[in-house]
Amino acid sequence: MGAIVYWTLIRIAILIPVLWIATEWMDYKFWWTILIMSVYGVVIYPAYLQYRIFREKNNQVIFDTLCSSCKSFDETAVICMKYDEHPKVDYIPCEGIDWEPKG
Ligand code: SF4
Repeated sequence: MGAIVYWTLIRIAILIPVLWIATEWMDYKFWWTILIMSVYGVVIYPAYLQYRIFREKNNQVIFDTLCSSCKSFDETAVICMKYDEHPKVDYIPCEGIDWEPKG
């Protein structure tokens, strides 16, 4: 998840100066249209695609492991907050010893 935020910030950091430079030769009446389209195409949609790939890749860990029902599991980052490690389908950091039910 951190990588998604990181690359989103990188894309924003690149897009701002590009749009700033583009104001020099762009007609103002197209400014808002180009701004909205470029923010969607360069920032929002790639972040959404990255998030979908992240969810697909980690779906089994999020829903089908012992950690998925543990209160120490943060499913947004797919991490055990107690051990600060990423559980996998075949790897439970605590081996089930520190499992505590959610809620
Ligand atoms: S404490 Fe154990 S069961 Fe709970 S999330 Fe961490 S590794 Fe998984």
